[in-house]
Amino acid sequence: MLGQMQNWPLLVSKFLEHAEINHPRREIVSMLPEGGQFRYTYADHAVRARKCAQALERLGIGFSDRVATLAWNTHRHMELWFGAAGMGAVCHTVNPRLFPEQLVYIMNHAEDRILCLDVTFVPLIEKLASELKTIEHYVIMVGRDHMPETSLPNVLSYEDLIDAESGDYRWPTFDENTACGLCYTSGTTGNPKGVLYSHRSNFLHTLLALQGDTLSITSKSVILPVVPMFHANAWGIPYAAAGAGAKLVFNGPHHDPETLHKLIMEEGITVTAAVPTVWMGMLKYLEATGKDMGKLKTVTIGGSAVPRVMIDTFQRNYGVRVNHAWGMTETSPLGSLGSENGAVENLSEKEKLDIQCKQGRSVLGVEMTIMDDDGNVLPRDGKSSGHLMVRGPWVIDTYYKADKNATDADGWFDTGDVACIDEYGYMQITDRAKDVIKSGGEWISSIDLENAAVAHPKVAEAAVIGVYHPKWDERPLMVIVTEKGESVSTEEMHAFLEDKVAKWWLPDDVVTVEEIPHTATGKISKKSLRDQFTDYKLPTY
Ligand code: AMP
Repeated sequence: MLGQMQNWPLLVSKFLEHAEINHPRREIVSMLPEGGQFRYTYADHAVRARKCAQALERLGIGFSDRVATLAWNTHRHMELWFGAAGMGAVCHTVNPRLFPEQLVYIMNHAEDRILCLDVTFVPLIEKLASELKTIEHYVIMVGRDHMPETSLPNVLSYEDLIDAESGDYRWPTFDENTACGLCYTSGTTGNPKGVLYSHRSNFLHTLLALQGDTLSITSKSVILPVVPMFHANAWGIPYAAAGAGAKLVFNGPHHDPETLHKLIMEEGITVTAAVPTVWMGMLKYLEATGKDMGKLKTVTIGGSAVPRVMIDTFQRNYGVRVNHAWGMTETSPLGSLGSENGAVENLSEKEKLDIQCKQGRSVLGVEMTIMDDDGNVLPRDGKSSGHLMVRGPWVIDTYYKADKNATDADGWFDTGDVACIDEYGYMQITDRAKDVIKSGGEWISSIDLENAAVAHPKVAEAAVIGVYHPKWDERPLMVIVTEKGESVSTEEMHAFLEDKVAKWWLPDDVVTVEEIPHTATGKISKKSLRDQFTDYKLPTY
């Protein structure tokens, strides 16, 4: 017997309808790539998103056609999210930090029909346009006054495009399993792979993002999602903000601590989210200027492991709680978050900090387990580490256009991360499977070493890779960037790490570089580092 409740398809246009009806005067503020700031309300936003859908239809976009965006976090980008997906097309958020050949690959692979781009990216796309096989129109996301001289063919101004529409449009109803958004993983090896979200998966993910234990978003929140909309849907924040009726503030092309801080203070930001590198810069800025964080209460940090010193400094010096999160493009992306559960709330401050360094508890809707190489489930004892496997309704089943699915027979997706899970359910990533350092048959966690090293006051950033060693197979090499004018010897680093990690984990060498390479999503690029140090001879031979 089936239930007899209404079968309401879970479509993302519902978030916008909800915001328009229930929170019409709540603001959306946006820094503009062409300069200046823009401010309007969810009511205005909803009208422009409908005009956007009408304009896309006029350009011939139909059901399930791909509309690409190459854009910073702005109100226009969000209009396109809702406009394209709401009408039944697919919004393909392209990460501008990918290599040019990857950009060409993914837009051709996705068969994008329209590319909507910020004015910032016009020179980049002019160089690639002749290779983009399927793009019929280039929509530059500015008004006519700011349209640049360009060699791009079939160019339109976004503002002109939507100004020509009435906004008199009803969001269509269709199957909730329809594709909604497309995002490619940055892919450290081979070509990037497409993750095709459905309306249903995004809707359910949004309900999760609005749980009390996750991103701390309520209707009273003022949110600055620094995490880009092209990186795993800005962790779902724009949808969640509309769903809650929270005020949204977009930083546009600006990622410098000074501009972010100005927005935090002027707009009264209470919640924000980004990868650790953004906050590393912010903490330095705060220390140098003596400024505080105003009304900011919670910062969600993920994408890479959050160093203990970062959590401690945010909480102790600025009264901002750090919410350590883990996820992937393939998991929409929220998989686990680090809010306190009842079992840990009475622990000592030090023990709580230990737990916050972990990547959090799996959320309702994401099942998580760890397995050894033979697929045996390992105990949740906080020590046994193995392959982190996940499954759930917003976890990938099959990569876009792949001929076989990405899961095992039981539906588990292998994340490529190595982790352990403790008795309270907190998961801790020890490494990416391919970054783990295998020394004499034992594993050394590069993440643990890096996190311990960045607590050194003279160290700005640290990365650890395994380098060939004739006796041990691999031994750790630590690569650091020091604070300006400082230097740190291997001996000094050993002395600093001695009481923080096992003795046999101490790096065989510490090398100082000007800059550590990063990937398109702000992670340390271990692959580039390994290439750079491929013939490196450790002094411990
Ligand atoms: P992406 O798809 O670009 O978001 O990358 C996902 C990967 O980032 C995961 O598989 C992890 O390796 C890494 N990652 C995400 N969050 C964390 C975290 N909090 N700590 C350590 N690694 C993380």
